[in-house]
Amino acid sequence: MDQEMFETYIKNRMDEEGEFNFRCTECGECCRDRKDILLTPYDLDRMSRYLKIRREEIIKQYCVVYIGETSHLPIIAVRMDGVPCPFLKNKRCSVQECKPSVCALYPLGRTVLYNKDPDESGADACKIQYFLQPVCCGARDERHTVKEWMAGYHMEDGDAWFFKWQETLILLVEKMNDLIPRLSAGILDELYTALLTGLYLGYDDDRDFLDQFTENTHKIILMLELLKQIDSLGKSDHHT
Ligand code: SF4
Ligand code: SF4
Repeated sequence: MDQEMFETYIKNRMDEEGEFNFRCTECGECCRDRKDILLTPYDLDRMSRYLKIRREEIIKQYCVVYIGETSHLPIIAVRMDGVPCPFLKNKRCSVQECKPSVCALYPLGRTVLYNKDPDESGADACKIQYFLQPVCCGARDERHTVKEWMAGYHMEDGDAWFFKWQETLILLVEKMNDLIPRLSAGILDELYTALLTGLYLGYDDDRDFLDQFTENTHKIILMLELLKQIDSLGKSDHHT
């Protein structure tokens, strides 16, 4: 979170019962020429299940995939190079019920607060907090609670997921930054493919998404640790 966003957060923070005034007037202006409409694995899962389109097909038809410069993780963005969002039809979002969480949340923002001094049980070690972003569009003639706003987009698991995702990102970014200098270009390419599959694609629609995400990330972390061990063993062999 940058300084400006942090100040906005402090001024406008609220919990699930918090209320705000907003109505989207469907001008479609926020759906053009954006590079920041990123899909999380949960977004892709919601879209795939709701639209009944395979995850791979959604990526192929509507998205670009690239490797994050600082995260070194695969990132999936809705494709909008100089054109409106492919989901924008007649100025309306055609995937309204399963739109990416960054779109669904607007005008809200969301962050995880970590408590440095949780009680002994570990309760309140962290909590999800919402805030109202600076808004210069739409109308103010509808009143909403955060909870009701979120429920409108089939994001019932949204908070549990968001916390898990943030926690996983912190761990994976740390491990990837440690591994990158140790791996050859060929191994890195294979690793990126494995990360894309494990994080975004390897799900069975008959099972709960969050359970599978937990299993997949556990396997990814084991794989990253194994790669580090292999590299360390290679170096110690070289020195003996
Ligand atoms: S997914 Fe929907 S709300 Fe989000 S940018 Fe595209 S058209 Fe707009
Ligand atoms: S969120 Fe704002 S900019 Fe986007 S379509 Fe609604 S009114 Fe227009």
